[in-house]
Amino acid sequence: MQLYNSLTHQKDTFRTYEPGKVRMYTCGPTVYHFAHIGNLRTYMMEDVLEKYLRYTGLDVQRIMNITDVGHLTSDGDTGDDKMLKGARREHKTVMEIAAYYTDAFFADCEKLNIKKPEHIQPATGLIGDFIHIIETLLEKGYAYEAGGNVYFDTSKLDQYYRFHDFREEDLEVGVREGVEGDENKRNKADFVLWFTKSKFDDQELKWESPWGLGYPGWHIECTGIAIRYAGEHLDLHCGGIDNVFPHHTNEIAQSEAYLGHEWCPQWFHVMHLNTTSGKMSKSKGEFLTVSLLEEKGFSPMAYRFFCMQSHYRKSLVFSWENLENAQGAYQKLLAKIRPLCAAQDAVDEAAKAALLAKFTEAMDNDLNTAQAITVIYDILKADTTAATKRACIEAIDSVLSLDLLKNAAALAEQKDAAAEIPAEVQALVEQRAAARKAKDFAAADAIRDQITALGWQIRETREGTVVTPIG
Ligand SMILES: [Zn+2]
Repeated sequence: MQLYNSLTHQKDTFRTYEPGKVRMYTCGPTVYHFAHIGNLRTYMMEDVLEKYLRYTGLDVQRIMNITDVGHLTSDGDTGDDKMLKGARREHKTVMEIAAYYTDAFFADCEKLNIKKPEHIQPATGLIGDFIHIIETLLEKGYAYEAGGNVYFDTSKLDQYYRFHDFREEDLEVGVREGVEGDENKRNKADFVLWFTKSKFDDQELKWESPWGLGYPGWHIECTGIAIRYAGEHLDLHCGGIDNVFPHHTNEIAQSEAYLGHEWCPQWFHVMHLNTTSGKMSKSKGEFLTVSLLEEKGFSPMAYRFFCMQSHYRKSLVFSWENLENAQGAYQKLLAKIRPLCAAQDAVDEAAKAALLAKFTEAMDNDLNTAQAITVIYDILKADTTAATKRACIEAIDSVLSLDLLKNAAALAEQKDAAAEIPAEVQALVEQRAAARKAKDFAAADAIRDQITALGWQIRETREGTVVTPIG
């Protein structure tokens, strides 16, 4: 498989340190709020990558951290503590916030068919490992104490900026929010490994350490967690493009200084999801969550389909209209697959292998999911048995996870039930669909009330709109 590597800036042949085994690390969420659908796009593309590696016969062990301490609102060492901010906002303790939003994150993942990693590790559960790494970095001369904190000394490295399209001047990005220089730093790029003195005197979570009561910096947790579960050699490290600098740059610096050798040769980054007005964030504009998509009548599978239609290394523009188009295309695809569900004929193994070769060709070319979806349409048009087509789609969907056969079968049942709906109700259902398409959600809601008054209920499900009698 050829996979783009952010370290080498080219597509490289995917390789593993130990034959047949992939140790894959994914930077996890900071659990102070819901994930927005832009964050979830990254996890979804990582999920497809993981499933495709399994499809090719590799044994994948995937590791994810849960950041429940130490992540400040800028990705550098300034700004507010995100967890503390969340706790204040909701008048809860930091651990209550962490538990609540960790569950919410995995609930969203489940709706989007994102598989859980084999190892999920909250940062607060591995403090001893972080302290050990920091002690070693101090012993080796890669770290120093200043003003109560421990810092990584980036001047000790031959090359700090490893993703070399990110230059010194980009460092300003790290301090853009609440700009305040830290006079303890010897070099501009140095970063905190352990805080005992921060501006948060009321920080709830603190641990004893050789440097006093304090807490770890954000970057050290990924190094500690990855090494705990993957050992000294990681095969593949993933994250959003935002993480390249400073987070991943710092992870490499401290991991390789600690280990004394190369740590992870392959880096996979997913580009931004943008809105029509720019980069998506939790604080700007509409806060786009999976729940909001569902409230507006979109199925999580329509969003997954929307993401799969685009390459992970391209910025994707989200708009309700784009999602509506994707949902429409997804429903049409299900309708095309529907007749295959009841296929009784035999699978032509040679034809199946030839069709699936097109799928692997697409995915081997830097995980081209858009091309993989085109292959599904080719399969539907192919001159072979229905059972062959169904078997191919089943194999492809074990990677893309779009619930194609399941939802096509549900659609078939739904079509049978639709016959019994009275014409008056059916007419209203169609009016409501038209109102929604025109984004007149107020009118759509009013029509829904009329339908309810007639004794029918209308629900948006993964399979589309379902109309059933009340009671
Ligand atoms: Zn990380």
